[in-house]
Amino acid sequence: MNVNQSAPPVPPFGQPQPIYPGYHQSGYGGQPGSTAPPTPYGAYNGPVPGYQQTPPQGMSRAPPSSGAPASTTQAPCAQPTYGQFGQGDVQNGPSSTVQMQRLPGSQPFGSPLAPVVSQPAVLQPYGPPPTSAQVTTQLAGMQISGAVAPAPPTSGLGYGPPTSLASASGSFPNSGLYGSYPQGQAPPIGQAQGYLGVQTPQRSAPSQASSFTPPASGGPRMPSVTGPLLPGQGFGGPPVSQPNHVSSPSPQALPPGTQMTGPPGPPPPMHSPQQPGYQLQQNGSFGPARGPQPNYGSPYPGAATFGSQPGPPQPLPPKRLDPDAIPSPIQVIEDDRNNRGTEPFVTGVRGQVPPLVTTNFLVKDQGNASPRYIRCTSYNIPCTSDMVPLAAVIKPLARLPPEEASPYVVDHGESGPLRCNRCKAYMCPFMQFIEGGRRFQCCFCSCINDVPPQYFQHLDHTGKRVDAYDRPELSLGSYEFLATVDYCKNNKFPSPPAFIFMIDVSYNAIRTGLVRLLCEELKSLLDFLPREGGAEESAIRVGFVTYNKVLHFYNVKSSLAQPQMMVVSDVADMFVPLLDGFLVNVNESRAVITSLLDQIPEMFADTRETETVFAPVIQAGMEALKAAECAGKLFLFHTSLPMAEAPGKLKNRDDRKLINTDKEKTLFQPQTGAYQTLAKECVAQGCCVDLFLFPNQYVDVATLSVVPQLTGGSVYKYACFQVENDQERFLSDLRRDVQKVVGFDAVMRVRTSTGIRAVDFFGAFYMSNTTDVELAGLDGDKTVTVEFKHDDRLNEESGALLQCALLYTSCAGQRRLRIHNLALNCCTQLADLYRNCETDTLINYMAKFAYRGVLSNPVKAVRDTLITQCAQILACYRKNCASPSSAGQLILPECMKLLPVYLNCVLKSDVLQPGAEVTTDDRAYVRQLVTSMDVAETNVFFYPRLLPLTKSPIESTTEPPAVRASEERLSNGDVYLLENGLNLFLWVGASVQQGVVQSLFSVSSFSQITSGLSVLPVLDNPLSKKVRDLIDSLRAQRSRYMKLIVVKQEDKLEMLFKHFLVEDKSLSGGASYVDFLCHMHKEIRQLLS
Ligand SMILES: [Zn+2]
Repeated sequence: MNVNQSAPPVPPFGQPQPIYPGYHQSGYGGQPGSTAPPTPYGAYNGPVPGYQQTPPQGMSRAPPSSGAPASTTQAPCAQPTYGQFGQGDVQNGPSSTVQMQRLPGSQPFGSPLAPVVSQPAVLQPYGPPPTSAQVTTQLAGMQISGAVAPAPPTSGLGYGPPTSLASASGSFPNSGLYGSYPQGQAPPIGQAQGYLGVQTPQRSAPSQASSFTPPASGGPRMPSVTGPLLPGQGFGGPPVSQPNHVSSPSPQALPPGTQMTGPPGPPPPMHSPQQPGYQLQQNGSFGPARGPQPNYGSPYPGAATFGSQPGPPQPLPPKRLDPDAIPSPIQVIEDDRNNRGTEPFVTGVRGQVPPLVTTNFLVKDQGNASPRYIRCTSYNIPCTSDMVPLAAVIKPLARLPPEEASPYVVDHGESGPLRCNRCKAYMCPFMQFIEGGRRFQCCFCSCINDVPPQYFQHLDHTGKRVDAYDRPELSLGSYEFLATVDYCKNNKFPSPPAFIFMIDVSYNAIRTGLVRLLCEELKSLLDFLPREGGAEESAIRVGFVTYNKVLHFYNVKSSLAQPQMMVVSDVADMFVPLLDGFLVNVNESRAVITSLLDQIPEMFADTRETETVFAPVIQAGMEALKAAECAGKLFLFHTSLPMAEAPGKLKNRDDRKLINTDKEKTLFQPQTGAYQTLAKECVAQGCCVDLFLFPNQYVDVATLSVVPQLTGGSVYKYACFQVENDQERFLSDLRRDVQKVVGFDAVMRVRTSTGIRAVDFFGAFYMSNTTDVELAGLDGDKTVTVEFKHDDRLNEESGALLQCALLYTSCAGQRRLRIHNLALNCCTQLADLYRNCETDTLINYMAKFAYRGVLSNPVKAVRDTLITQCAQILACYRKNCASPSSAGQLILPECMKLLPVYLNCVLKSDVLQPGAEVTTDDRAYVRQLVTSMDVAETNVFFYPRLLPLTKSPIESTTEPPAVRASEERLSNGDVYLLENGLNLFLWVGASVQQGVVQSLFSVSSFSQITSGLSVLPVLDNPLSKKVRDLIDSLRAQRSRYMKLIVVKQEDKLEMLFKHFLVEDKSLSGGASYVDFLCHMHKEIRQLLS
């Protein structure tokens, strides 16, 4: 009786389940029909889909390269305080003239801890002495690596030399775009590789433009509509007179669609009556919502007409394509908010398209998983066609708003959860009980199973079990089962997980103040480790390691008066020098831990050690968890390229000359296979790695992020970290990360009903076979995108089912299964597919597909593939679903009318088309971030939100309506906020009223505003408060802290800001929205002809 009964939507669930003997419980991941014993933790020797590139190189503890020190090809941070390192020709070591900061009073610290300063550093008196192998002599003294001067830039690519970049960047804010180095913003010179760089001039020739028909003038087949439009009318589209707006829904209206007379018309909609209103915005035309439109000229030859229904051609003078006439993301978002944000989304009906991710709505689980857990690219799958990628973006542990209940936990006792004998699917609302309730037919594989006696229940006259609404697994889309010991590693219930904090104490980490800041913060943060339910204290144990090129372990056993340090300097053969006292309960060892955290900054205050190791640190943490027989998480705080002699040693191989060559992919690949090998070991141990990077220059994020990526961890990057500028952002991220609820040692399997199957997976995880997604850790922010393909014909009657099962260990050490079910419709008419698509989810899938593609393909090929795929999707619609019309018309399905604009944003993103200011590390960083993003995150990341601040009344408490991300939409008399989930800008127009300037910045004129400011002064006036509240609210919506950058119009920083005005042509050659739409139209026409 372990059912959580808080706020039950239905009568109490889950009576205690008697044990029913003889029900053999196969392990997780058993194959259909398999009688072999489960092997839930098979050998990790399978393919690694997420990282196909560099083949594993065995235990690449190979001797490190003996070559010369890597050259620096990137400018380090050019900041006044870093002056001594700022010339791009010195590695990040201290110069001999630098006075190291040392706090007064830190000298004698009467602890047993010895300072470690690049000396043979094994402290004898503490703990068991290390074996002689570990007592190695360290390199004496410090070295400033003999870096060579940066390579000159190639002439063709337009990238300035690092030194010049650095020198041009004096006033750049520290955070850059992704916390990148504040380098120059000079526009690239010769980088017009995109198709539009060449074609735009042609398009703008007015003489080549053709005329348009009015987009919404009512085509021959479109009945004129007055009053609320019935879904399915005419083309199933919106009213002609208001194509872009959805009028008030008429819930009762659901007649089948007006028959199309032309071939191949769409069939009547298959929606159920429970989707009031939504049909109205489907499968129609786009265009301005202001009634009949004038004609739109286009600069493109043979250009498009925008409208779902062709009207008679009306020759008109050519004009530039009116941006107001092309589909507006803002309008679509607003319409959905207005129409679907008021009523809860009830999941009881198969194939319902949920509201957009940008709409606030509540969910009521009535048998299908909430869209917070699963979103699909389409909710109506063609019975045979794979034309539109079918993918689900799954966030198994998504956090819910307080109004929505967490999944119920069902305990079936020793027998464990009830499953299909053949396909191992878990009991769910779609299983069909037959023979009076004595058997059930599996909804996934059709196998007939006996119902165990203790689970037996009578059926009512509709064939439904009479207890269906008393059991979560028979009535809800999402729920949890308590797992039995069969689901545990080595058939043993798990121990509570552990957190290990591993702190770089090399010169860079000390100098920036990072170590001191971190140690101070940890003292209080350890009180907020994740807890389960109402537990008084967290079950999680903690441990501490510091390192530079050797590792220091700490014994913080509660019985000690002072912490003890043990040094392991043989990093080639890492071991954990102590077991007892390394992982401890925070409350029991508080005094010792506090003492340790006080001492660490002092101990290393005088360090001159600049070299670091990296792989041995992870190895050590993983070995410690293994020794303690538990899963857990490593928090690594790391500053530099690990160049010390050790496994996983890296060299600086950054080379921007590779951009736009066939070798560009190597910039995204790890430079050694050692980290993949290490990651596999970590996954086997349930060791998740979160990495906090504080680089001054290139650190090879592509390689360092391999282990976090494959273990379900997170990477944070704070380039040129300085305490005064960056502590708020770092501490905010750290607090959130440490407090996150995490599922450990997890395995996820997605089962499908006959006809489709999961074929591909995207995210931060590891796979050793083709079906099981292994996650050393999984938190509530991480998603896994799963692609499905047909392997048989689907059936319209039965639809298609997905079941995602996540087996994991909770923060308290409880083994559980979380189940999410989702039923989709199936259709024989493609029009139904296009009426039930979710473009935001499709973009999430396409971006992840492309971002993985750059690991193995030239970036240009990846871009071309995206364009072709998008054109095929839209051409298929045009061919099969749209009514015949003049070839000059571009007709987009209503649900996909934003596909071109969003796709263009993906194409011109930094990974696929980097600007000059984007570093190799930035690109690798963003690439791996996007891999785990949910749909809401990719949506705002690719199409940022731009909010005018002074347009709406000051007393208005709601978020101001966004405007389109284009310079045209900026008024120089206004102030705007722009955010994309990672970056936050406040743009101030040059003509903004003096009163506004005074209210926000407390200065008297625009010219006095400090460009690059990252904090607004706290002023006691309504505008200041409103803007600061809005900033807080935006930050609260995102999973990472967004540092503010104030940008003044016409200031050089504005270049950074304009990078995010994604509807405009970009400096790196990315097309404007208008140009891209024209290009897409051309592609579609080519496919059709
Ligand atoms: Zn089955």
